[in-house]
Parts: sequence; C-alpha cells; structure tokens
Amino acid sequence: MLEKLLIVCCYFDYHPKIRLVDVKIGFGPSGKIEKVECKICKKVYIRDKKGINLTIVLLVILLLVLVMLLF
Ligand SMILES: [Zn+2]
Repeated sequence: MLEKLLIVCCYFDYHPKIRLVDVKIGFGPSGKIEKVECKICKKVYIRDKKGINLTIVLLVILLLVLVMLLF
C-alpha cells in the first residue's frame, strides 16, 4: 500500500528512499558527485541538489489517497 505511493513519487522523479552508492570528487563549482540508488525502483542516478517541487508530489499523493478512499 505505502510502497505503491512511493512508486508514484519515483514516477515524478522524486525518490524518497535512497542509499549512497558512490561518491566522486568532482572538479569546479559542482563539488562532489553523489551517485545514489533508489531502494524502491532500483534506479541509480546522480543526486541533484536542486530537486523537484516536493509540494507537488505531496499533493499528488493526497489526491491518490482521496481517490482510493472514494472507490
Ligand atoms: Zn525511485
């Protein structure tokens, strides 16, 4: 149940459960590069500092919960 909601987060490119796979020291202003793996969808990606709008993700989850309650 909860896992399904988390997969929805992954769909929106927000991975709530991640683990650090590799850290590389980069050059320039970007600093170190952190490679992380999502525990839910198993996607490996470079952690982005800016991230996406968490509010939108939470709104979508709230909507899904409402839909599940109604049907
Ligand atoms: Zn994910």
